Amino acid sequence: MRALAILPRTMECLHFLGVMDAFLARGTKLQGFDMHHAGRRVTGLSVGGVESRYNYLLSIEQSETERILLAAVEAAGITVERGIELTGFVADDAGVQARLRSLTGRAETVMCDWLVGCDGAHSAVRHGLGLPFEGAAYEDDLRLADCRIDWGLAPDRGHAFLRADGPVAAIPLPRGRWRLIAFAPPGTPVEDPTLAWFAERLHGVAPTGTFLSDVEWLARFKIHRRMVPRYREGRVFVAGDAAHIHSPIGGQGMNTGIMDAFNLGWKLADVAHGAPTALLDTFNTERHAVAASVLRLTDIATRRMASTGALSLSLRLLLLPLLFASRRVQTRLATAFSHLSVTYRSAAVGPGGGGRIIDSPLIAPDGTAVQVHDLLRADRRTLFLLDGAPPRALQGQPAGTNLVCIGRIPVGRIYGDPAGTLADRYSAAAIMVRPDGVIEWIRRRP
Ligand SMILES: Cc1cc2nc3c(=O)[nH]c(=O)nc-3n(C[C@H](O)[C@H](O)[C@H](O)COP(=O)(O)OP(=O)(O)OC[C@H]3O[C@@H](n4cnc5c(N)ncnc54)[C@H](O)[C@@H]3O)c2cc1C
Repeated sequence: MRALAILPRTMECLHFLGVMDAFLARGTKLQGFDMHHAGRRVTGLSVGGVESRYNYLLSIEQSETERILLAAVEAAGITVERGIELTGFVADDAGVQARLRSLTGRAETVMCDWLVGCDGAHSAVRHGLGLPFEGAAYEDDLRLADCRIDWGLAPDRGHAFLRADGPVAAIPLPRGRWRLIAFAPPGTPVEDPTLAWFAERLHGVAPTGTFLSDVEWLARFKIHRRMVPRYREGRVFVAGDAAHIHSPIGGQGMNTGIMDAFNLGWKLADVAHGAPTALLDTFNTERHAVAASVLRLTDIATRRMASTGALSLSLRLLLLPLLFASRRVQTRLATAFSHLSVTYRSAAVGPGGGGRIIDSPLIAPDGTAVQVHDLLRADRRTLFLLDGAPPRALQGQPAGTNLVCIGRIPVGRIYGDPAGTLADRYSAAAIMVRPDGVIEWIRRRP
């Protein structure tokens, strides 16, 4: 098990796919993080203030995440073939010739229109393209333990324990377990960690009587910050860890990869239905910028976390409570870290577009309560026609657009927005939303 936290913006995308109930049934909600020193809480950061119905983190094993998504793919009639390795490919203007080999050694060549390398940090597709994986490895030695902890700390929050020789973090896992992550202090012998080593790291900073047991996984790993210079070469793409890797601090890797896939998926579908292939360049424009920012932020966080010394600890004990004293600062940090503030600038967005649409409440024509995101579709655009929208807003829209009419009161096929929240927020008469929940353009009120 690697990734354990699903971020609010990822959950919103999973909501459009209709799989969030399955995630909520298996995951554990985390409300934020507390920081401790010498056995007492120093300060904390809450995710609760972010403007999303998913105003928390969801702790769920990566294997569960993969199982739920696989079931959704299979329910859509697609079979995922396991045990097939891509051994090479040739791409030209006409298509991609991919060479495959099965576990039994059977080789075959497949012709396809597009090839997307979602094949992890050692990506064969990235190597095949000759794309450099620019960046560096950190010096730090990170250690991890998944285990049971008896200590009475809130099980719906992560906990970081500040020490002069490097912090230790504990994140709740489903089934009442915890993941401990620690930077090994400089000079620590290079050897695999033990539970006793973690107990020693928590001694004096965690509550007295803390007891670790039932270890499921112990690991020691090096971390890197690397990314490709571009995500597309003609008919071939890279996404996820194949395109970017960084420190696990902040739980960004898998989330960034899922959002890469969301971004590319609908664009490939559009092109398959006749849209100009130039749309695919915007996958690079939009997602490369996000990965660059994730690398920057996780790099700053990792360096700050890894810094050691009594002075550094005293500064953190002084500054962190000041920083987190403001609810507004907490919410701004949590919003950025949750990818809710990502705004795309590319040829795939027009006037007023680029940010995600808010999920404000509406009243359905039958009088039931719904929210804006319930009306979005992952397989097509949604056009919101707001009170007083001119009929010309309807002209020239792509076929298959999901049309939602909104007025002050629900009537006929019209959804109600009594407070006019959506129209007022964007001063809009019409809003076109892409399948990834991002506003494509806004037609302002006359
Ligand atoms: C300890 C740890 C903790 C982490 N915690 C978090 C977290 O909390 N939140 C978060 O968002 N991220 C986290 N991450 C990062 C996250 O695990 C990765 O970002 C994520 O797994 C990347 O997904 P991916 O699909 O791009 O690549 P992978 O998960 O690496 O999947 C690549 C797939 O491609 C297959 N493959 C490889 N080569 C070939 C080939 N030639 N032909 C065919 N198939 C091939 C592989 O078998 C594999 O199935 C963590 C990582 C670690 C190590």
